[in-house]
Amino acid sequence: MNITIVGTGYVGLGTAIMLAYLGYRVTGLDTDLQKIERLRAGDLPIYEPGLDELLRQAQGNLTWTTSYEESIPKADIIFICVGTPALPSGQPNLTYLESAARSVARNLDGKTQIIVNKSTVPIGTADWMTRILEEHAVHYHTNRYDIVSNPEFLREGTALSDSLYPDRIVLGGRPWAVARLHELYAPLIEQSFTPPPHVPRPSGYTRPAVVNTTLTSAEMIKYAANAFLALKISYANEMAGLCECVGADIEEVTGGIGLDARIGTRFLAAGAGWGGSCFGKDTSALVSTGEEYGYDMPILRAAIDVNRRQRTLVIEKLQRHLRLLKGKRVAVLGMAFKPNTDDLRDAPAHDFIARLASLGASVVAYDPVAMPRARQEWGHLQYSEARSASAALAGADAVIIATEWDEFRLLDWDAAVLTMRTRVVIDARNLLRMPLSVAATVEQIGKDAGPAP
Ligand code: NAD
Repeated sequence: MNITIVGTGYVGLGTAIMLAYLGYRVTGLDTDLQKIERLRAGDLPIYEPGLDELLRQAQGNLTWTTSYEESIPKADIIFICVGTPALPSGQPNLTYLESAARSVARNLDGKTQIIVNKSTVPIGTADWMTRILEEHAVHYHTNRYDIVSNPEFLREGTALSDSLYPDRIVLGGRPWAVARLHELYAPLIEQSFTPPPHVPRPSGYTRPAVVNTTLTSAEMIKYAANAFLALKISYANEMAGLCECVGADIEEVTGGIGLDARIGTRFLAAGAGWGGSCFGKDTSALVSTGEEYGYDMPILRAAIDVNRRQRTLVIEKLQRHLRLLKGKRVAVLGMAFKPNTDDLRDAPAHDFIARLASLGASVVAYDPVAMPRARQEWGHLQYSEARSASAALAGADAVIIATEWDEFRLLDWDAAVLTMRTRVVIDARNLLRMPLSVAATVEQIGKDAGPAP
């Protein structure tokens, strides 16, 4: 089978390289020429642990192009993996998807081809895409072209393991098209491939569940899954606030409730809240879908509000200790929205830096991998870069830990804190194992901070 992947971002690249590793001939297509040129040179435009190694192993099966004319006619299966970012209204911006669907349609060549939607899209998008195909495909014939919804569940930072050993594969569409996807995914479904040595099969993992469903249910499954995870995080953060009021410790509380198998411990970490390209936009999209039907979604709206409040809370904690921020030097450790990625989309650190600068603080930021990307994407923010975490702390009045990188966990905090001007640490990821051996003010989320100074 020949595969074309349209959109070589975090999802498209992972999918392309994974399918090439499984032995398929894969063409990665993107309208961003710079990205394609880097890929042709064997250079990954994103940071994802282990992806460079898998790219080397799968290189022989991969081609990179900007040309729909060249890649679409020869493809048996076409994956759409373009971005669907949120508009200011909260609804997803479908212009990339529309443009990709039109370009695909114009280049379908009349043989049996399947268009698989991996982008996260509003419910009903598959029908809308079918109409685009009808309007723009030269050889359109419903029995020969079909759309399958195959939402993606990979997480940045663990994308390879998530792709090779998924919990489930969701396939929505007509039976003949879904059957073709079963064929394509057979090595994953049967786990018949040889695991790459650097991404071994997790112990206890057997096979993914396969969910065969309708287009609409598949689209809904993706949103409902992300919204539920976002909800769990906001729930933990709401409980964390109450823990601070009553003097309980949120980690002991979530550890305690997580032992109930119906709840589980995952996605209950209190902190600065969720960020990234998915949870914010997908929760807003679901709320606006509800609005289209006059259906209110108060639980989701509250989850979004709690998440927003967490970011404000971090700065309020800092203000409580430093009082005036004007002229103070504040270090921000971590810029990516989570560790093991360079993705800056909707990162809490962005809001921290913006707010601190607007309050007159001078901000020095450090991230192990995301600084080059921040130079391109955060030009509108006022901050300087540090060469290391300890360099960021030297002479600072306070530090905010914004991302839970292992590098920060492993820092010699006692030594680093001694180099600060005033020793205020706002651990917005509950990363530090307390207490420090040197005198310092450390605030975490959902822990009893004792009396205010
Ligand atoms: P991304 O922004 O990293 O990548 C999108 C790519 O599409 C870019 O390289 C862009 O240049 C390209 N593109 C845009 N318009 C194009 C066009 N007309 N033709 C060809 N290429 C085009 O986005 P992403 O993070 O990979 O997300 C893609 C989709 O997958 C989104 O809908 C997202 O919600 C969903 N998703 C993302 C993740 C994640 O962790 N990033 C996880 C699951 C699902």
